[in-house]
Amino acid sequence: MSRSEAMDEILQKYKAIWALNHSSALLSWDLETYMPEGGARPRGEAHAQLALLRQKFMIDLRGPIERSEEAKDLNDFEKGVLRVLRRELHYFTKVPPRLIEELQRITTEATVVWRDARKKSSFSTFKPYLEKIVDLKRQEADKLGYQRHPYNALADMYEEGITIDDLDGIFSTLVPNLKRILAKVEREGRFPTRDSLESKKYNVEAMKRVNDKLIEILGMPEKRFRMDVSTHPFTDTIAQDDVRITTRYEGRDFRATMFSVIHEAGHAIYELQVDGGLSYTPLAGGVSSGVHESQSRFWENVLGRSAAFASLVLPILKRNLPFLSRYSSEKIYRYFNMVRPSLIRVDADELTYNFHIALRYDIEKKLIGGELSVSDLPALWNDTMQDYLGVRPKKDSEGVLQDIHWSGGSFGYFPCYSLGNVIAGIVWHSIKKEMSLKDAIKRRDFERVKSWLKEKVHKWGSTYAPKDLQMRAFGDAYNPERLVSYLEDKFLG
Ligand code: MG
Repeated sequence: MSRSEAMDEILQKYKAIWALNHSSALLSWDLETYMPEGGARPRGEAHAQLALLRQKFMIDLRGPIERSEEAKDLNDFEKGVLRVLRRELHYFTKVPPRLIEELQRITTEATVVWRDARKKSSFSTFKPYLEKIVDLKRQEADKLGYQRHPYNALADMYEEGITIDDLDGIFSTLVPNLKRILAKVEREGRFPTRDSLESKKYNVEAMKRVNDKLIEILGMPEKRFRMDVSTHPFTDTIAQDDVRITTRYEGRDFRATMFSVIHEAGHAIYELQVDGGLSYTPLAGGVSSGVHESQSRFWENVLGRSAAFASLVLPILKRNLPFLSRYSSEKIYRYFNMVRPSLIRVDADELTYNFHIALRYDIEKKLIGGELSVSDLPALWNDTMQDYLGVRPKKDSEGVLQDIHWSGGSFGYFPCYSLGNVIAGIVWHSIKKEMSLKDAIKRRDFERVKSWLKEKVHKWGSTYAPKDLQMRAFGDAYNPERLVSYLEDKFLG
């Protein structure tokens, strides 16, 4: 069989996997949006069965993958297909089903226990589960194989090719620089730390109109995109021509829903702009968690929280939120960019956010490396918060118990939030050489920004590994200096 026949076989067989992904994505979207509560159990069963089918189909691809890999003159598309499939196959062939099942079982249980533990702020309730999960994740890393540190095996699952050397380098640059910028902002009172708008209630129907208008301004394609409401905002790609986002309406502090819409729209734009020729192939989606988050952060922070954007949206806000009638665009801009060291990651502003991630990365790395025991976690957490942000949790629910990630076994995911900010910094540095973002926003010319992002990043889907993609697009990868410059420009400029 020739190379192209083997590749044809892969692409033909992959369509069944694509259909399973398509179905699972729709089931997940429905689960979070419209499913009645009673659907939870059968939905869980359906998901588990689809995952097993998917695994079976993946393993069936092994033969044609091996045959294709023997060829020497592969093009970039073919190399990409093989790289992406090989990564997934690697997981299923290295990690024994027994371990996958045990992880699945314990994390499902632990998520329930964690919710209760957080409510009661009882770390001791969650502790035995976390210990078990850390132990299983260490086994998983051993089975996957790694160089130097077991954390590398886990981080790689979310951000292909990233290592603790990269991450240590990034955070050792970010932490001292952010401390310096934050100290100056606080000392000089450059941005507000509080605003009465934070507790201001809004009319949900009016805010929905604002969000619909935002979607229109950002040029989200009506026939390929939709927005709904869910408890936690997310983006879900059902297909390349069917990308959906959600938001939520807390009823107060209108910033939250507005910026979650812009954030998720950033994720959606990435998915919508992947080259159509990659449809139904393993390369059809965004390449990694970090690169994906860079797109959402770029739209949310670099564009959405800019002074030009504040001016652009103020008339829309005023039309729908009467309590803003006396606000100037300068005042709204400053409200969008309040800086306040706080305990909760999801509430953190642009300047303090990465401290929360630096802390979690350090803890994860030490737990997986066996240098830290779970019992020492709350103390290390609280001391580090004190050191980074000068705030200290009074109870574990506002400290170590606040995030769902560890109960679900997602060790290695947290750094991707900071990688997203770091890459968004590189995008900012690179795009401003070619256009004025301020002018583009003023003219509502988001199509120009989108075409630029499409050419550099989006259209490639997963063709290139994240580091290669960044090098091709920007001649630079994971360089934290760009984010530092961006924050200096914005907060100290
Ligand atoms: Mg996101």
